[in-house]
Amino acid sequence: MPAIILDGTRIASDIRAEVAADVRAMAAARVRPGLAVVLVGHNPASEIYVRGKVKACQEVGIYSEQHSPADTATTDELLHLVEDLNRRDEIDGILVQLPLPPQVDSKRVLMAVDPAKDVDGFHPVNVGFLSTQRPGLIPCTPAGVIEILKRSNIPIAGQEAVVVGRSDIVGKPAAMLLLNANATVTVCHSKTHDLPGVCRRADILVAAIGRAGMITRDFVKPAATVIDVGMNQVTDPAEFKRLFAGNAKRAESFQAKGSTLVGDVHPEVAEVAGAITPVPGGVGPLTIAMLMFNTVKAARMLRGKWSVASGQ
Ligand code: NDP
Repeated sequence: MPAIILDGTRIASDIRAEVAADVRAMAAARVRPGLAVVLVGHNPASEIYVRGKVKACQEVGIYSEQHSPADTATTDELLHLVEDLNRRDEIDGILVQLPLPPQVDSKRVLMAVDPAKDVDGFHPVNVGFLSTQRPGLIPCTPAGVIEILKRSNIPIAGQEAVVVGRSDIVGKPAAMLLLNANATVTVCHSKTHDLPGVCRRADILVAAIGRAGMITRDFVKPAATVIDVGMNQVTDPAEFKRLFAGNAKRAESFQAKGSTLVGDVHPEVAEVAGAITPVPGGVGPLTIAMLMFNTVKAARMLRGKWSVASGQ
Protein backbone atom coordinates (compact mmCIF):
# COMPACT_ATOMS: atom_id res chain seq x y z
CA MET A 1 0.00 0.00 0.00
CA PRO A 2 1.51 3.40 -0.88
CA ALA A 3 2.35 5.72 2.01
CA ILE A 4 -0.04 8.35 3.35
CA ILE A 5 1.22 11.73 2.16
CA LEU A 6 1.56 14.16 5.06
CA ASP A 7 0.37 17.47 3.65
CA GLY A 8 2.67 20.14 5.09
CA THR A 9 1.01 22.90 3.11
CA ARG A 10 -2.34 22.20 4.76
CA ILE A 11 -0.84 21.90 8.26
CA ALA A 12 1.12 25.14 7.77
CA SER A 13 -2.02 26.91 6.65
CA ASP A 14 -3.88 25.68 9.77
CA ILE A 15 -1.07 27.02 11.98
CA ARG A 16 -1.06 30.36 10.18
CA ALA A 17 -4.83 30.66 10.67
CA GLU A 18 -4.38 29.95 14.42
CA VAL A 19 -1.60 32.55 14.65
CA ALA A 20 -3.77 35.09 12.80
CA ALA A 21 -6.56 34.48 15.34
CA ASP A 22 -4.06 35.03 18.20
CA VAL A 23 -2.87 38.25 16.58
CA ARG A 24 -6.49 39.46 16.32
CA ALA A 25 -7.07 38.66 20.00
CA MET A 26 -3.94 40.61 20.93
CA ALA A 27 -5.05 43.54 18.77
CA ALA A 28 -8.15 43.83 20.94
CA ALA A 29 -5.76 44.55 23.82
CA ARG A 30 -3.75 46.98 21.65
CA VAL A 31 -0.78 44.64 21.33
CA ARG A 32 0.71 43.98 17.90
CA PRO A 33 3.55 41.47 17.64
CA GLY A 34 6.47 42.77 15.58
CA LEU A 35 9.24 41.01 13.66
CA ALA A 36 12.45 42.62 12.39
CA VAL A 37 14.30 40.80 9.63
CA VAL A 38 17.93 41.63 8.94
CA LEU A 39 19.08 40.78 5.43
CA VAL A 40 22.69 41.68 4.69
CA GLY A 41 23.72 42.16 1.05
CA HIS A 42 22.15 40.59 -2.00
CA ASN A 43 22.04 36.79 -1.76
CA PRO A 44 19.23 35.82 -4.20
CA ALA A 45 18.13 32.75 -2.19
CA SER A 46 18.06 34.78 1.05
CA GLU A 47 16.07 37.53 -0.67
CA ILE A 48 13.42 34.97 -1.68
CA TYR A 49 13.24 33.55 1.88
CA VAL A 50 12.96 37.03 3.42
CA ARG A 51 10.21 38.06 0.98
CA GLY A 52 8.28 34.93 2.01
CA LYS A 53 8.69 35.79 5.71
CA VAL A 54 7.60 39.42 5.30
CA LYS A 55 4.59 38.36 3.21
CA ALA A 56 3.58 35.79 5.85
CA CYS A 57 3.71 38.53 8.51
CA GLN A 58 1.35 40.67 6.45
CA GLU A 59 -1.04 37.75 6.03
CA VAL A 60 -1.29 36.96 9.74
CA GLY A 61 -1.26 40.61 10.88
CA ILE A 62 2.22 40.74 12.45
CA TYR A 63 4.05 44.07 12.09
CA SER A 64 7.30 43.54 10.18
CA GLU A 65 10.23 45.61 9.10
CA GLN A 66 13.24 44.75 7.01
CA HIS A 67 16.77 46.04 7.55
CA SER A 68 19.11 45.64 4.60
CA PRO A 69 22.70 46.62 5.40
CA ALA A 70 25.12 46.50 2.44
CA ASP A 71 27.19 43.35 1.90
CA THR A 72 30.22 45.37 3.10
CA ALA A 73 28.65 45.66 6.60
CA THR A 74 31.02 45.02 9.49
CA THR A 75 30.43 42.93 12.60
CA ASP A 76 30.28 46.14 14.68
CA GLU A 77 27.64 47.70 12.45
CA LEU A 78 25.46 44.60 12.72
CA LEU A 79 25.98 44.44 16.49
CA HIS A 80 24.74 48.04 16.75
CA LEU A 81 21.69 47.24 14.64
CA VAL A 82 20.86 44.18 16.75
CA GLU A 83 21.33 46.15 19.98
CA ASP A 84 18.95 48.80 18.70
CA LEU A 85 16.33 46.15 17.83
CA ASN A 86 16.84 44.50 21.23
CA ARG A 87 15.93 47.81 22.89
CA ARG A 88 12.77 48.55 20.89
CA ASP A 89 9.57 47.48 22.66
CA GLU A 90 7.49 47.12 19.48
CA ILE A 91 9.93 44.50 18.13
CA ASP A 92 9.28 41.05 19.62
CA GLY A 93 11.27 38.93 17.18
CA ILE A 94 14.64 39.48 15.51
CA LEU A 95 15.69 37.27 12.64
CA VAL A 96 19.16 37.58 11.14
CA GLN A 97 19.02 35.85 7.78
CA LEU A 98 21.98 33.51 7.23
CA PRO A 99 24.49 33.26 5.67
CA LEU A 100 26.17 36.53 6.63
CA PRO A 101 29.06 37.82 4.47
CA PRO A 102 32.47 36.27 5.22
CA GLN A 103 33.92 39.37 6.95
CA VAL A 104 31.18 39.18 9.60
CA ASP A 105 31.54 37.14 12.78
CA SER A 106 28.15 35.38 12.49
CA LYS A 107 28.35 33.74 15.91
CA ARG A 108 28.91 37.09 17.64
CA VAL A 109 25.97 38.65 15.81
CA LEU A 110 23.62 35.76 16.64
CA MET A 111 24.78 35.77 20.27
CA ALA A 112 23.92 39.49 20.49
CA VAL A 113 20.22 38.85 19.78
CA ASP A 114 18.21 39.05 23.01
CA PRO A 115 17.25 35.38 23.69
CA ALA A 116 13.69 36.56 24.39
CA LYS A 117 13.50 37.89 20.80
CA ASP A 118 15.45 35.03 19.18
CA VAL A 119 12.61 33.70 17.00
CA ASP A 120 15.03 31.38 15.16
CA GLY A 121 15.80 29.64 18.47
CA PHE A 122 19.55 29.54 17.70
CA HIS A 123 20.82 31.39 20.79
CA PRO A 124 22.61 29.08 23.29
CA VAL A 125 20.16 30.23 25.98
CA ASN A 126 17.25 28.87 23.92
CA VAL A 127 19.23 25.71 23.07
CA GLY A 128 19.66 25.24 26.84
CA PHE A 129 15.96 25.86 27.49
CA LEU A 130 15.07 23.23 24.89
CA SER A 131 17.42 20.63 26.31
CA THR A 132 16.18 21.23 29.86
CA GLN A 133 12.50 21.38 28.82
CA ARG A 134 11.96 24.98 29.89
CA PRO A 135 9.72 27.36 27.92
CA GLY A 136 11.71 29.15 25.23
CA LEU A 137 11.91 29.72 21.50
CA ILE A 138 12.40 26.56 19.42
CA PRO A 139 14.07 26.46 15.98
CA CYS A 140 11.34 26.71 13.33
CA THR A 141 12.09 23.76 11.04
CA PRO A 142 12.43 21.11 13.80
CA ALA A 143 9.36 22.57 15.53
CA GLY A 144 7.56 22.09 12.21
CA VAL A 145 8.63 18.44 12.09
CA ILE A 146 6.98 17.84 15.46
CA GLU A 147 3.83 19.73 14.42
CA ILE A 148 3.48 17.49 11.35
CA LEU A 149 3.76 14.36 13.51
CA LYS A 150 1.38 15.59 16.22
CA ARG A 151 -1.25 17.00 13.87
CA SER A 152 -1.15 13.80 11.80
CA ASN A 153 -1.78 11.76 14.98
CA ILE A 154 1.46 9.84 14.61
CA PRO A 155 2.47 8.51 18.02
CA ILE A 156 5.89 9.65 19.24
CA ALA A 157 6.11 8.45 22.86
CA GLY A 158 7.88 5.11 23.12
CA GLN A 159 8.67 5.00 19.39
CA GLU A 160 12.13 4.47 17.90
CA ALA A 161 13.10 7.73 16.19
CA VAL A 162 16.20 8.04 14.03
CA VAL A 163 17.41 11.47 12.93
CA VAL A 164 19.99 11.57 10.14
CA GLY A 165 21.91 14.86 10.46
CA ARG A 166 23.25 16.63 13.54
CA SER A 167 23.29 20.30 12.56
CA ASP A 168 22.52 22.91 15.21
CA ILE A 169 19.69 24.21 13.03
CA VAL A 170 17.82 21.00 12.23
CA GLY A 171 19.22 17.63 13.31
CA LYS A 172 20.11 18.29 16.95
CA PRO A 173 16.99 20.28 17.89
CA ALA A 174 14.79 17.75 16.04
CA ALA A 175 16.38 14.95 18.08
CA MET A 176 15.90 16.93 21.30
CA LEU A 177 12.23 17.61 20.55
CA LEU A 178 11.62 13.92 19.81
CA LEU A 179 13.37 12.99 23.05
CA ASN A 180 11.27 15.56 24.96
CA ALA A 181 8.21 13.90 23.41
CA ASN A 182 9.43 10.57 24.86
CA ALA A 183 10.72 8.87 21.71
CA THR A 184 13.82 6.68 21.92
CA VAL A 185 16.17 8.71 19.77
CA THR A 186 19.26 7.87 17.72
CA VAL A 187 21.17 10.63 15.92
CA CYS A 188 23.20 9.65 12.84
CA HIS A 189 25.82 11.56 10.84
CA SER A 190 28.51 11.08 8.22
CA LYS A 191 30.60 8.82 10.50
CA THR A 192 27.75 6.47 11.46
CA HIS A 193 28.46 2.80 10.69
CA ASP A 194 25.77 0.83 8.83
CA LEU A 195 23.49 3.81 8.31
CA PRO A 196 20.83 1.78 6.45
CA GLY A 197 20.71 -0.75 9.31
CA VAL A 198 20.36 1.97 11.97
CA CYS A 199 17.66 3.75 9.94
CA ARG A 200 15.72 0.50 9.53
CA ARG A 201 15.14 0.47 13.30
CA ALA A 202 13.12 3.67 13.02
CA ASP A 203 9.38 3.97 13.50
CA ILE A 204 9.99 7.66 12.76
CA LEU A 205 12.84 8.50 10.39
CA VAL A 206 13.86 12.16 9.99
CA ALA A 207 16.23 12.94 7.11
CA ALA A 208 18.11 16.27 7.44
CA ILE A 209 21.22 15.62 5.38
CA GLY A 210 21.32 17.80 2.29
CA ARG A 211 21.85 14.95 -0.21
CA ALA A 212 19.23 14.43 -2.89
CA GLY A 213 17.41 11.11 -2.59
CA MET A 214 20.06 9.51 -0.36
CA ILE A 215 17.52 7.64 1.77
CA THR A 216 16.41 4.76 -0.44
CA ARG A 217 13.99 1.94 0.34
CA ASP A 218 16.72 -0.16 2.04
CA PHE A 219 16.89 2.47 4.82
CA VAL A 220 13.22 2.21 5.71
CA LYS A 221 11.29 -0.25 7.88
CA PRO A 222 7.95 -1.10 6.24
CA ALA A 223 5.16 1.21 7.50
CA ALA A 224 7.59 3.68 9.15
CA THR A 225 6.87 7.41 9.12
CA VAL A 226 9.45 9.30 7.07
CA ILE A 227 9.95 13.05 7.48
CA ASP A 228 12.06 14.56 4.72
CA VAL A 229 13.63 17.89 5.71
CA GLY A 230 16.03 18.01 2.74
CA MET A 231 15.76 20.67 0.06
CA ASN A 232 18.12 20.04 -2.82
CA GLN A 233 18.08 21.48 -6.34
CA VAL A 234 18.82 18.73 -8.86
CA THR A 235 20.08 19.94 -12.25
CA ASP A 236 21.96 16.86 -13.51
CA PRO A 237 19.79 14.80 -15.93
CA ALA A 238 21.41 11.50 -14.82
CA GLU A 239 20.60 12.30 -11.19
CA PHE A 240 17.09 13.28 -12.22
CA LYS A 241 16.67 9.91 -13.93
CA ARG A 242 17.90 8.02 -10.83
CA LEU A 243 15.20 9.74 -8.80
CA PHE A 244 12.26 10.20 -11.13
CA ALA A 245 12.50 7.62 -13.94
CA GLY A 246 8.97 7.13 -15.32
CA ASN A 247 7.52 10.29 -13.71
CA ALA A 248 6.31 12.15 -16.81
CA LYS A 249 4.95 15.16 -14.93
CA ARG A 250 8.22 15.84 -13.11
CA ALA A 251 10.20 15.22 -16.32
CA GLU A 252 8.16 17.86 -18.12
CA SER A 253 8.78 20.46 -15.41
CA PHE A 254 12.49 19.47 -15.15
CA GLN A 255 12.87 19.96 -18.87
CA ALA A 256 11.15 23.35 -18.75
CA LYS A 257 13.03 24.72 -15.71
CA GLY A 258 16.31 22.83 -15.91
CA SER A 259 16.07 21.89 -12.23
CA THR A 260 13.78 20.31 -9.68
CA LEU A 261 13.50 20.48 -5.89
CA VAL A 262 14.22 17.12 -4.25
CA GLY A 263 14.34 15.99 -0.65
CA ASP A 264 16.89 13.71 1.00
CA VAL A 265 14.49 10.79 0.57
CA HIS A 266 14.23 8.87 -2.70
CA PRO A 267 10.67 8.88 -4.11
CA GLU A 268 10.67 5.03 -4.11
CA VAL A 269 10.43 5.19 -0.29
CA ALA A 270 6.73 6.06 -0.67
CA GLU A 271 6.21 2.39 -1.67
CA VAL A 272 7.57 1.15 1.69
CA ALA A 273 6.78 3.86 4.26
CA GLY A 274 3.48 4.13 6.12
CA ALA A 275 3.46 7.93 5.92
CA ILE A 276 5.80 10.39 4.26
CA THR A 277 6.25 14.13 3.75
CA PRO A 278 6.55 15.23 0.12
CA VAL A 279 9.12 17.69 -1.25
CA PRO A 280 7.96 20.30 -2.03
CA GLY A 281 4.90 20.69 0.20
CA GLY A 282 6.10 18.83 3.31
CA VAL A 283 8.36 20.33 6.00
CA GLY A 284 9.21 23.44 3.92
CA PRO A 285 5.93 25.36 4.46
CA LEU A 286 6.07 24.67 8.21
CA THR A 287 9.26 26.68 8.67
CA ILE A 288 7.63 30.05 7.99
CA ALA A 289 4.44 29.06 9.84
CA MET A 290 6.52 28.28 12.94
CA LEU A 291 8.37 31.59 12.58
CA MET A 292 5.00 33.34 12.79
CA PHE A 293 4.11 31.16 15.78
CA ASN A 294 7.42 32.02 17.49
CA THR A 295 6.94 35.76 16.94
CA VAL A 296 3.56 35.66 18.66
CA LYS A 297 5.01 33.47 21.40
CA ALA A 298 7.87 35.96 21.93
CA ALA A 299 5.34 38.81 22.09
CA ARG A 300 3.35 36.94 24.72
CA MET A 301 6.41 36.25 26.81
CA LEU A 302 7.77 39.79 26.50
CA ARG A 303 4.54 41.61 27.06
CA GLY A 304 3.84 40.04 30.42
CA LYS A 305 0.11 39.69 30.73
CA TRP A 306 0.04 37.33 27.74
CA SER A 307 0.90 33.99 29.27
CA VAL A 308 2.34 31.27 27.03
CA ALA A 309 -0.71 29.18 26.22
CA SER A 310 0.80 26.58 23.93
CA GLY A 311 2.81 23.65 25.19
CA GLN A 312 5.61 24.26 22.65
P1 NDP B 1 24.09 20.57 7.37
O1 NDP B 1 24.93 20.48 6.15
O2 NDP B 1 24.39 21.59 8.40
O3 NDP B 1 24.09 19.15 8.10
C1 NDP B 1 23.98 17.96 7.38
C2 NDP B 1 24.11 16.79 8.30
O4 NDP B 1 23.98 15.61 7.51
C3 NDP B 1 25.44 16.72 9.03
O5 NDP B 1 25.25 16.38 10.37
C4 NDP B 1 26.21 15.61 8.29
O6 NDP B 1 27.05 14.82 9.08
C5 NDP B 1 25.05 14.73 7.81
N1 NDP B 1 25.47 13.99 6.61
C6 NDP B 1 25.99 14.48 5.46
N2 NDP B 1 26.27 13.48 4.60
C7 NDP B 1 25.94 12.34 5.23
C8 NDP B 1 26.01 10.97 4.87
N3 NDP B 1 26.49 10.57 3.68
N4 NDP B 1 25.58 10.06 5.77
C9 NDP B 1 25.10 10.44 6.97
N5 NDP B 1 25.01 11.73 7.36
C10 NDP B 1 25.43 12.66 6.51
O7 NDP B 1 22.59 20.72 6.83
P2 NDP B 1 21.27 21.31 7.55
O8 NDP B 1 20.99 20.52 8.78
O9 NDP B 1 21.33 22.77 7.63
O10 NDP B 1 20.18 20.96 6.43
C11 NDP B 1 19.89 19.62 6.06
C12 NDP B 1 18.93 19.63 4.91
O11 NDP B 1 17.72 20.26 5.31
C13 NDP B 1 19.39 20.43 3.69
O12 NDP B 1 18.91 19.81 2.51
C14 NDP B 1 18.73 21.77 3.86
O13 NDP B 1 18.51 22.43 2.61
C15 NDP B 1 17.41 21.34 4.44
N6 NDP B 1 16.73 22.37 5.22
C16 NDP B 1 15.41 22.55 5.00
C17 NDP B 1 14.71 23.49 5.68
C18 NDP B 1 13.26 23.62 5.43
O14 NDP B 1 12.68 24.65 5.69
N7 NDP B 1 12.61 22.57 4.92
C19 NDP B 1 15.36 24.38 6.66
C20 NDP B 1 16.74 24.05 6.91
C21 NDP B 1 17.40 23.09 6.19
P3 NDP B 1 28.38 15.43 9.80
O15 NDP B 1 27.88 16.22 10.96
O16 NDP B 1 29.12 14.22 10.21
O17 NDP B 1 29.06 16.26 8.77
